Amino acid sequence: MKPADTFRLTPGKRVLFLTKDPDLIRRQLAGELDLRMADLGLDDLLDDINTDAMTPAWVCFSHRPEDIARDAYAGLIVDGKRLFEKDALIDGNFEVIVSGHRKGVGSSRETAVQAEKWSGIRLAVAASFAPIHAGNNINQGVMMGDHAMLSRLQAGEGIPLDEFCQGHDPITQLVIRHGGLFPFSKAFAAGEIDLPKPDTGPRPMTMAEKILASKTLGEGKKYVKPDDAVVVRVDGGYSHEFTTAQVHYFLEQEYGADYKVQNPERFAVFEDHLIYADEVPKMRVFSGKIETLRQLQREFQRHTGVRDFSAKGGVSPGICHEVAREELIEPGDFIQATDSHTCMGGVNNALAWGVGTTEYAALAHAGFTQVEVPESIRFELSGKLVAGVTAKDVMLYILLHYAKPEATLNRVMEFTGPGVAALSMDERATLTNMATECAARTAIVIADDETFRWIAEWRPGTDVERLREKAVAPDPGAEYAGGIHAIDLSAIKPMVAHPGDPDHGIPSDPTNGELVEALGQVPIEIAYGGSCTAGKIDDLVFYHQVVKEAVDAGLKVAPGVKFLIQCGSMAVEEFVHEHGLDKAFEQAGVTLIRPGCGACIGCGPGVSDTADQVTISAINRNYKGRSGPGKLWLASPLTVAASAFTGRITAYRPGMFSETAVPA
Ligand code: SF4
Repeated sequence: MKPADTFRLTPGKRVLFLTKDPDLIRRQLAGELDLRMADLGLDDLLDDINTDAMTPAWVCFSHRPEDIARDAYAGLIVDGKRLFEKDALIDGNFEVIVSGHRKGVGSSRETAVQAEKWSGIRLAVAASFAPIHAGNNINQGVMMGDHAMLSRLQAGEGIPLDEFCQGHDPITQLVIRHGGLFPFSKAFAAGEIDLPKPDTGPRPMTMAEKILASKTLGEGKKYVKPDDAVVVRVDGGYSHEFTTAQVHYFLEQEYGADYKVQNPERFAVFEDHLIYADEVPKMRVFSGKIETLRQLQREFQRHTGVRDFSAKGGVSPGICHEVAREELIEPGDFIQATDSHTCMGGVNNALAWGVGTTEYAALAHAGFTQVEVPESIRFELSGKLVAGVTAKDVMLYILLHYAKPEATLNRVMEFTGPGVAALSMDERATLTNMATECAARTAIVIADDETFRWIAEWRPGTDVERLREKAVAPDPGAEYAGGIHAIDLSAIKPMVAHPGDPDHGIPSDPTNGELVEALGQVPIEIAYGGSCTAGKIDDLVFYHQVVKEAVDAGLKVAPGVKFLIQCGSMAVEEFVHEHGLDKAFEQAGVTLIRPGCGACIGCGPGVSDTADQVTISAINRNYKGRSGPGKLWLASPLTVAASAFTGRITAYRPGMFSETAVPA
């Protein structure tokens, strides 16, 4: 529905303030308290509300938004209990929801917005929004405002729609004015909208700008600059069993049962996220819903003819982002997929980012999408990582020093410089994978001979010259609003991100970086190596390097510790067996898990069972509750493996176990 020209609060409807003090939330939900903006300061409001808290994984097992809304904020757990009981947000009769900084960080799941919208929320107020979450709000027709606007609304003022459009590009403004993406797309298809034409003249461009310029619809050579609104061709994309059912549902609703998608040969579906959910006792109750999601994905695949990466014999071919870089993504591509770690595809010198199901459905149907050209930030890498340090440590360093102060926010992170050549493609993929934890739009790595060699090795018959022609590099003089930052890889030390203390206002966040050498004794019970970030061939080689050294020194995994390793794809698993890595794993007492997601999303072996359990994990996010109720520390594959043998968080040093070797 098109929004009115002036936004006003509806008499009788309420405003919910998400405060750091959980008791204030409880009292608002119970109808005992109605707050006003004037009663609170920004510091009183919850920051970094992540989408896992808004709609935890199990809530997304339903694909109808009206069902999802019933469990809005089910992941906000205080003292082991849900702060929002079932139907709490719907029953509270709220139309505005208020929080602090960086609302909607984490997974790109659009269900987070759907949970609010189908509970009656018309306006989300925050100091800042994570980029993908903000896009999902716009696509769903939920207004976004700041705290000053709320003060005016609560004082009885009406706010013109124009103010909600301010700061957005002209096409996004049209989406807001039409009340969301589908109404906008239909008006566009009906010829009711004239899109503004960008008129940016020749200028030096970043890698991201070059890719977007080359995909912009229309004749002739084009140039773009940040904030330009352009309609661009999409080269490919993918969804997984967690999201496809909703894409299918939305497409049928909007375009009828005989809808079509463009270029199905460059789109794909994956079965990876929920493949081992049955192995988590808490998830077994959702088996029926998960099976429905799988069936709806198969129905979508048969209907559209997109590439099929379904499980075979109950085993996933791999995590979508890992397989996509192995099999699908080429330099210079513009890729969109329904998952926040789509950014990992930037390792292949492509521009790739995650979108919500509404946006994905619309672009798969049309073959193009609208984009506001993002700003960029560049990291010029030099030197070489020292022994015991990996690309994961580089990202934990960048998260602490650049993402925390928001230098990467909504920008494309470009990795260039001679240090890139010193990193393998798998290590470069760790850099791009964690762009979403930086709240960046995405990341992209400059291409070199290794990029083309690696792609050709994975895809025999590849025409390398064609890839070379498609690759992009930044122009001399390209502008980086976030600056150009030199990082000497040889100066990086092993790092962790601590789990915070969310019950007391310290979010569990990947930006909680600390040097391992500065930690005291942190005993662990679970060590997990896997996920799209850390389930690649090189990661498995890292785990093996430590495990082999430990086994050779007569050690096994420390008493009381479970060490689980999960391959990112079937091809990675084959590598492990072909090269005999599994032998040392077995000798050490490591549990090797079949490919797929799993513990990373709370849906597989390796999740914690109790709040007091401590996990050291090579995954990319440490949000409370995501991988079980315990405390989760993020670290590199080397640190995870070393900690599994010492029983406490420990950085790996080559030869560390021979110092304490058990005599044969
Ligand atoms: S491994 Fe984790 S972060 Fe990666 S795609 Fe799967 S659930 Fe998402």
